[in-house]
Amino acid sequence: MKSVTILGATGSVGTSTLDLVEREPDRFRVVALTANCDVARLAAAAIRTRAEFAVVADEQCLPELQAALAGTGVRAGGGPDAIAEAAASGADWTMGAIVGCAGLKPVLSAIEQGGTVVIANKEPLVSAGDVILRAAARSGATLLPADSEHNAIFQCFDAARPEGVRRIILTCSGGPFRDWTTDQMRGVTLEQAVKHPNWSMGAKISVDSATMMNKGLELIEAARLFPIAPDRIEIVIHAQSVIHSLVDYVDGSVLAQLGPPDMRTPIAHTLAWPDRMATPMAPLDLVGIGRLDFAAPDPVRFPALRLAREALDAGGARPAILNAANEVAVEAFLNRRIRFLEIAAIVEDTLIRYDPAAPDSVDAVLAIDAEARRLASERVKDCVV
Ligand code: NAD
Ligand code: MG
Repeated sequence: MKSVTILGATGSVGTSTLDLVEREPDRFRVVALTANCDVARLAAAAIRTRAEFAVVADEQCLPELQAALAGTGVRAGGGPDAIAEAAASGADWTMGAIVGCAGLKPVLSAIEQGGTVVIANKEPLVSAGDVILRAAARSGATLLPADSEHNAIFQCFDAARPEGVRRIILTCSGGPFRDWTTDQMRGVTLEQAVKHPNWSMGAKISVDSATMMNKGLELIEAARLFPIAPDRIEIVIHAQSVIHSLVDYVDGSVLAQLGPPDMRTPIAHTLAWPDRMATPMAPLDLVGIGRLDFAAPDPVRFPALRLAREALDAGGARPAILNAANEVAVEAFLNRRIRFLEIAAIVEDTLIRYDPAAPDSVDAVLAIDAEARRLASERVKDCVV
């Protein structure tokens, strides 16, 4: 039996992971589940799966969790130490599905204990890629990507012969505003931005998909995860989200992974890896899909793509600043405090205003993250909706 811990168990990825785990109770045993403060969902999942430990990150929600779990045999915890304990709970397989850089320390705790750590939570890899990869090298933990594009690349990339790879091609749905002009995007509402054409996801990543910052973060994520120069990672718009990414070899062979736009496929790949497990999705119906379209991305209409590419090329602290400013700006947009196009503008301003030396430790990354958040928050205050 494989023992499983899910960090961010109440979110979109966490719920998909639980769905798979609960389908095969003889194969998977739940150790720990965590959430920020979604007590009802967390407690229900912990009781259903007979988890050992359930944790809320927000300590103020602990009394409510204790009450919900009283008499069930599930231990309740709250706050950062309890999250770290859950992350290092000895599970064979840990899913990192917290949203944002808040997942950095928990995912590091999981990596430091070893075992298999699955990365859905891309922001820590963007901000602290070196720190995370060094920690994994030290502990011997196996990192597996759950992000659909990176999982596709992982399945196609011949890691034993990286010199045979010419390019990685990341596919991008283009989000809900793929064909909109900049002028049209000025008036984008929150409701329009969180409605992704192909995928059902959490609010933050849905907005990131609409600005295409998600693809920018994924570009950096790919550069961290695979041994390839950044200029060999390309992005192509593929509206149908059927091909999840491709690997182009020097002999002209191009390998791709295809599948339904449902996170349960890449999550199942990591959950069973190196074996396979069944999922409830219908087999891919190519005739029903009919055609696959491709187009070049437009970094002028979607400046987040340009900013992410520049941050990757410059390296050092730039990706951490990009990510932190974006988290603040997206949160402000979700709270209706700024307009859609101001998200990328705030990220760009923060990158202009702040240029510290490269961080060499997790604390240095977190200090840069905090200062970039402070600057971006100041800039949010200047915006009038
Ligand atoms: P979500 O908002 O639906 O869920 C986030 C989870 O993290 C919840 O369980 C929430 O309680 C918890 N959480 C939030 N803030 C926290 C904090 N400060 N401390 C601890 N826990 C906290 O998000 P999601 O869409 O499931 O995405 C999770 C991560 O996976 C993100 O990094 C996202 O980019 C990545 N991802 C998501 C998808 C998708 O389809 N949703 C696909 C690929 C990658
Ligand atoms: Mg993705």
